[in-house]
Amino acid sequence: MFIIKKDSLLRFNNPYIKRKLFKGVMHIPISCDTMATTRNILNEPMFLDVITGLGGIKAVEVVRTLMEHDSLSETELAEKIGIKEQAVRGILYKLYEKNVVQFRKERQENGWYVYHWTLLKDRLKDIVEERRRNTLELLRKKLEYETSNEFFRCENGCTRITFDKAFENDFLCQYCGAVVHQFDNSFIIEELSSYISRLESVAYSF
Ligand SMILES: [Zn+2]
Repeated sequence: MFIIKKDSLLRFNNPYIKRKLFKGVMHIPISCDTMATTRNILNEPMFLDVITGLGGIKAVEVVRTLMEHDSLSETELAEKIGIKEQAVRGILYKLYEKNVVQFRKERQENGWYVYHWTLLKDRLKDIVEERRRNTLELLRKKLEYETSNEFFRCENGCTRITFDKAFENDFLCQYCGAVVHQFDNSFIIEELSSYISRLESVAYSF
């Protein structure tokens, strides 16, 4: 049983989509605020992508380890993750620049300082949220493009073009000169719709 939000219907206010919806060919996954699925942020591809973008692939382990502790020194982090302290420090500075971690300095008897690092979970969540919103915006634009155009594809697979472009080129491929044929993009529309619904209904937790 699929529940379709009213604004989802408005978004799909396109004759093609409507036809598919009412024929029951197309299934829109449940998208309703009260049914938002809460997902552990650590397992979300979007989280992994954001963290990798901030501090490289090893930053994921740094963040995961910090998540489990109130604070850790660089030495403790390096030991737990199994990478060099210098590498840990480099990652922490990158995360610090983005305000994802903070540190507390502690002076040792020998005069050296030890830095204790804490993860700023709320800030991290905000960054992932921002990415989710931007991705949604992008996907909705793509969906709009896919639903409001008719497409043609070269029989040799060189290119996929809109009707206007195909018309301009006398329905011939601009690269190889072969005929272009009408292209059914319903699977693209379904994929985009499904991804959008999933992103709309997800809520992150730790
Ligand atoms: Zn071609």
